[in-house]
Amino acid sequence: MPSPGSSDASPPSIAVIGAGVAGCTVAALLARHRWPGSIVLWETGRGPGGRAATRRSREDQQLRLDHGAPLLNLMSGHRATAGLASTASAMPPAPPLIEELVQGGWLEPWSGARARLDVEGALHPISNDPLGEGLLYRGRDGMEHLCQGLLSLAGSAVSTRYGTLVRDLRPLPGEGWQLLDAQGRVLDQVDWLILSSTLLAHVRVQLVLAWDSVPLVEASRLLGDPRLDHALASIAALRFEGRSNLLLLVPADQARPWLELPFRLLDLDPPAQQRFHLRRISIQPLADGRCAVVVHSSATFAAEHLGVYGARSSIARVLSLPSPQEREQEVIEKLSAALEDALGAWPIAPLPPEADRQLMRWAAAFPVGAGLPEGLLLCPDSRIGFCGDYVSGPGFGRIEGAMASAHRLVEQLLPAALDRPAMVG
Ligand SMILES: Cc1cc2nc3c(=O)[nH]c(=O)nc-3n(C[C@H](O)[C@H](O)[C@H](O)COP(=O)(O)OP(=O)(O)OC[C@H]3O[C@@H](n4cnc5c(N)ncnc54)[C@H](O)[C@@H]3O)c2cc1C
Repeated sequence: MPSPGSSDASPPSIAVIGAGVAGCTVAALLARHRWPGSIVLWETGRGPGGRAATRRSREDQQLRLDHGAPLLNLMSGHRATAGLASTASAMPPAPPLIEELVQGGWLEPWSGARARLDVEGALHPISNDPLGEGLLYRGRDGMEHLCQGLLSLAGSAVSTRYGTLVRDLRPLPGEGWQLLDAQGRVLDQVDWLILSSTLLAHVRVQLVLAWDSVPLVEASRLLGDPRLDHALASIAALRFEGRSNLLLLVPADQARPWLELPFRLLDLDPPAQQRFHLRRISIQPLADGRCAVVVHSSATFAAEHLGVYGARSSIARVLSLPSPQEREQEVIEKLSAALEDALGAWPIAPLPPEADRQLMRWAAAFPVGAGLPEGLLLCPDSRIGFCGDYVSGPGFGRIEGAMASAHRLVEQLLPAALDRPAMVG
């Protein structure tokens, strides 16, 4: 018998756009619930991770640099952590799968020193930054292991297509979707579509990438689905904070002062962000004695330099966008000076040479606003679902929220697409 989600007797196929935390969580859960058709994950980047990816280099095998999220913080409970049971019992349950990722060696608790810098440049041992509250975890050997762990839980049921930007969407009313590349060629045709990123649904593509329209908004005109229109209106109301991140690679013979800093993660409080133009500094020791340092700009600095992205970003590579060298260098110099200013009390000089300083711009690092309401995660008539850290609820704007939204979406999708109830976990 054809399933309710299938356009004919074949099992329903599904495409998930985005192999960040939310997309990988959806893939893992669909595989776990034995989604009967194909599951394909489409991703612009060279591998999984999205904003929780780890930068690596073919030429430099030892390099690992968490250039987006350095950590995962869980404000919901976590049964796996011995000794914290009393704290955990007061919290709502953690997203399932976390425990499995810890047990499988993909995630590990993080207990590095955290501190806060105030506007006078003074250090405080306690940071109450919302990105550091609750239980802290890090991908073992790099944050990308969070998504790799999720994909390993998904197993062979999920196929991945890296290095591919889905540029456009064509609805097939009542039947599903076609995914198109930048040349208008059909990449895939599926019964169900999941968007784990707002890129194809939000006006920022017109502002940041100069696209002439927003693909899903155009597609929605052919569908006449009030629920999808409502979801798109909620997504349109989102705004995004950017980050211009300076990536430093400090050679082993100069790494000592960095490794001796009294913190591994330094948060700047709001007045300090205003003064130093920085938000956070993450010190990441490498196994071979070198030290990677990721300097996160303030949101204001990123907004002022939005047009300058790192030439090595996935989107620049896939769309062959030019990145004027001098402007990029100028931003690198400004961030280097800001870093020296903020860490003036410690002997970190000299900064590494030009070649070991790079820029990574996140145009949409954090969503701001009310978020997509949970009730609009799935639009069954249009056969489309949404997940990601832009979904409202606990963990909004964080990895925890990206995972939780994927669980909630799959809970709704399985009964709608397969006529099968879901106990997601
Ligand atoms: C600098 C920085 C620091 C952060 N610090 C923390 C922190 O300390 N703690 C924390 O919990 N969170 C932190 N975050 C936020 C965290 O990284 C995100 O909440 C989380 O990674 C979001 O996951 P996601 O799957 O929702 O989205 P994403 O990671 O953005 O994944 C979406 C994926 O979709 C891909 N994609 C989009 N459109 C297309 C398309 N059309 N075709 C193909 N692929 C596409 C993108 O390339 C991307 O990989 C930080 C983020 C940044 C940028």
